[in-house]
Amino acid sequence: MFEAKKCPLLLQNAMLEDNYKQRGLRNKLIRLLRNKGISDERVLTAMNKVPRHVFFDNALLEHAYQDKAFPIGEGQTISQPYTVAFQTEKLAIKPGDKVLEIGTGSGYQACILLELGAKVFTIEYNHNLYERTKSFLPKMGYKPYFYYGDGSKGIPAKAPFDKIIVTAGAPVVPDALLDQLAEGGIMVIPVGNRAKQVMLRITKKNGKLTKEEFEYFSFVPLLGDHGWNS
Ligand code: SAM
Repeated sequence: MFEAKKCPLLLQNAMLEDNYKQRGLRNKLIRLLRNKGISDERVLTAMNKVPRHVFFDNALLEHAYQDKAFPIGEGQTISQPYTVAFQTEKLAIKPGDKVLEIGTGSGYQACILLELGAKVFTIEYNHNLYERTKSFLPKMGYKPYFYYGDGSKGIPAKAPFDKIIVTAGAPVVPDALLDQLAEGGIMVIPVGNRAKQVMLRITKKNGKLTKEEFEYFSFVPLLGDHGWNS
């Protein structure tokens, strides 16, 4: 889906081409993710297609293929590649899945979901980030449906969703999101305090919810009515 030649924003700056060096660094990152336990080759292939360096300022390009979260402005971060891979793998995306992403941020995670063939609805609470990502992603060829607002309430008008991914740390699992999960659906959400959260996978089968707990992560807080207050 991504083609550097078709991206006017990238052409403004030779540094942001997807060149041999960037592709080499990306291959190395994928090997690292595999070594860390990510085994879904479809997820790894999707992550190998999306150029993470285009989400970084020129001065910070050297950090793009490190397995680290990084500031994207507005006090927010682009998630660590391992975290993106982990959440995406747990979602078991199938082509055509209708996916709700809470916390658009840079748009990187949305690109991975689109590469996997999902129909993506992504919502962001920070207006500047919403505007920035809504204008940037389509220039790369990625076209999720963008929403501005409090994603802790979901997007009731577009529910139900086959998959829901929350990319900010929640104090609790919002009931509103459980209600918007389709029968047979999967939600992946980090829940805990402001410093660290356990990754939960919640599956809805015959109307019954099953919860699995995985490892700990450290996300920026989910704000809003069913998140942290400020
Ligand atoms: N998925 C993003 C990416 O690929 O770059 C990373 C997301 S960043 C770790 C968390 C994002 O969640 C921030 O952009 C933040 O503004 C947003 N956020 C926090 N609370 C939110 C809410 N209630 N609704 C929607 N977005 C929210």
